[in-house]
Amino acid sequence: MKCPHCSYHDSKVLDSRETSEAIRRRRQCLSCGTRFTTQERVQQNTLYVIKKDRRREPFQKEKVLNGIRKACEKRPIASYLIERLADDIEIELVSQGKDEVNSNAIGDMVMERLKALDHIAYIRFASVYRDFTDITRLKQEVDSLADTSLKMPKISSQLSLLPENEITTAIKKVTRKYTSKNFK
Ligand SMILES: [Zn+2]
Repeated sequence: MKCPHCSYHDSKVLDSRETSEAIRRRRQCLSCGTRFTTQERVQQNTLYVIKKDRRREPFQKEKVLNGIRKACEKRPIASYLIERLADDIEIELVSQGKDEVNSNAIGDMVMERLKALDHIAYIRFASVYRDFTDITRLKQEVDSLADTSLKMPKISSQLSLLPENEITTAIKKVTRKYTSKNFK
């Protein structure tokens, strides 16, 4: 650390104080005797999200949360579960220690977790975030959910509330959305 007065390269530490975020050191230049303070703190990396159009923006958990909330609207899912899901994703992203992440990868992380939480929310989210370019793929996705529900009693009881109707309605809605979007 160079002296701010004479740019000499060496100084001695007179005093060192540690707070929860930083260490402050009072220093004295060994050449001209000027006293100055330095601070040492952990640098928080900003995680950037690369969007489909290649634009970059800082990661915001709130955005992920909004997307999940929208998909879970009017579903019997406790709001703390929705928040936990978003927290969980943030923790996983931060622990990966990367500087950038594709928005697709975040979408996949949400889908993976919604699939285990609520099938209707999953289908809604999938229809928005994973570009289902044709309805066949969405139908396959729904069929695969139906298969899982047969094998896993837990999920089938989850679906037994409003099973077929809800799924059919969800597919119809998505189908309508896509046909109007693609053929306008
Ligand atoms: Zn100096």
